[in-house]
Amino acid sequence: MSEENELLRRLFDLLEEYSRERNSPPLLEYHPPAELQELLELDRPAGQQDWDLLFDWIEKYLRYGVKTSSPAFLNRLWSGANPPSILAEMMVAATNTSADSYESAPVSILYEKHMIREMLRLAGFTHGEGQMTTGSSNANMVAMMCARNLLPERIKEDGLSGSRKLYAFVNKDAHYSMDKAANILGIGTGNLVKIPFNERGEMRVGELETAIRKVVREGGIPFFVGLTAGTTVRGAYDPIPEVLSLRDKYNFWLHVDGAWGGAAIMSDRLREKFMPRLNEVDSFTFDFHKMLGSALICNILLLNNSTHTLGTALAAGDTSYLFRDSDDNEVLDLGSVSLQCARRVDGLKMFLDWKFYGKEGFGKRVEHYLDLITYAGELVRSTPELELVAPRTSFNLCFRYKVPEGNAEAFNRRLRNALYHRGQGLVAIAYVEKKLVLRLVISNTQVTRETLEELFDRLVSIGRELVETGLQGTEGGMDPSGEGCGPACG
Ligand SMILES: *Cc1c(COP(=O)(O)O)cnc(C)c1O
Repeated sequence: MSEENELLRRLFDLLEEYSRERNSPPLLEYHPPAELQELLELDRPAGQQDWDLLFDWIEKYLRYGVKTSSPAFLNRLWSGANPPSILAEMMVAATNTSADSYESAPVSILYEKHMIREMLRLAGFTHGEGQMTTGSSNANMVAMMCARNLLPERIKEDGLSGSRKLYAFVNKDAHYSMDKAANILGIGTGNLVKIPFNERGEMRVGELETAIRKVVREGGIPFFVGLTAGTTVRGAYDPIPEVLSLRDKYNFWLHVDGAWGGAAIMSDRLREKFMPRLNEVDSFTFDFHKMLGSALICNILLLNNSTHTLGTALAAGDTSYLFRDSDDNEVLDLGSVSLQCARRVDGLKMFLDWKFYGKEGFGKRVEHYLDLITYAGELVRSTPELELVAPRTSFNLCFRYKVPEGNAEAFNRRLRNALYHRGQGLVAIAYVEKKLVLRLVISNTQVTRETLEELFDRLVSIGRELVETGLQGTEGGMDPSGEGCGPACG
């Protein structure tokens, strides 16, 4: 057996062991950073070429990490990955290539192009194009860049300096990647106009029109509106049909950020409910690595009514050393229209996941997540210690522990940290109307009604403990987990 095979076998043994345990408690063996730093023995010298030492670090990685596939990991919009995409990632590592050109990655390019066609069809973008990007943050930016560079102002060539001021519009609750895009693209974060939302968290279209009119009156260009399909904290879906009517009037680029909630596209019923007339917008992105469970990172950006926008807006510089025109004129070298040069092979995991589960499998999964979060909402309502902070409109549940007296924010923070430090679960915290909430989202096939009941039981029992020990509201008290974790863990 070659050395490489031996190493793989050794790794697979460890992974097998990890896989057996990865869904069982505890969620992690928690150590505060200083302590973990010691345990990791970071200062052992580099350059020893010693496999035993290396495997020591591999074991530490597995041992002290968070088991993200566990049903107690409810912190993020993603969690442990689908088995087909785990296989894909192993293959990607073993075969190491760049998905920028047909020459270096023929199979990957064809898988990716197949997925782009499939997803365009699903979105109902009949004459479209697309690319897999490094996540919805960058997809949002590329969409905004296309909108900017298609303006008659020739901004790609001449830059922004001679141009009238450009304005983009998003929900006040939109993802922060929109602010980053406005920054990076030279729009200016101050010219990203944040539109207020209604009690369900959805953009108020009347206010959008008022804001657009103001910009036009003052001589600016309203070039981009970014709607969110499933806001990150509340899960609100902005109303596409009403904004389509505004687009007819003001002629902006209409993008939909479906990083999280765009997965509803897999279910005809939920798509109609949450994203009606999606097929008419200019661009749409969603993450395969969130609700759909592909391994990180896996995203697709789709553009409508255009087969050359990406090239027009993005391609630049002399790439002749790398990319070839194909004989049949089809663009095969996806690298020429992506932000970076070398591209990770993300198409393989999307392709394998898609072929394995299909639209029907993913559609059922998304519908099941909606049923589960509905059930979680009922649990909150029937638990006297807990309260909903915002109405649940889709896949997100924002709630908190009611505090009899004292500071609800500090209390809920401590509650959530205690749950985490004991390795019993991890939920997100966020703000809704300046109130700190615990945000529950389900993106994990391991979650069931039972695991949700267990989660709420644990939250309530820790909450009661905190109330009894009189720790509500104090930021700096001792951690009730008794694990010697003081204020530093808060
Ligand atoms: C997660 C999220 C993003 C960012 O997606 P990445 O793939 O992590 O870059 C953007 N928008 C929304 C609404 C999100 O929930």
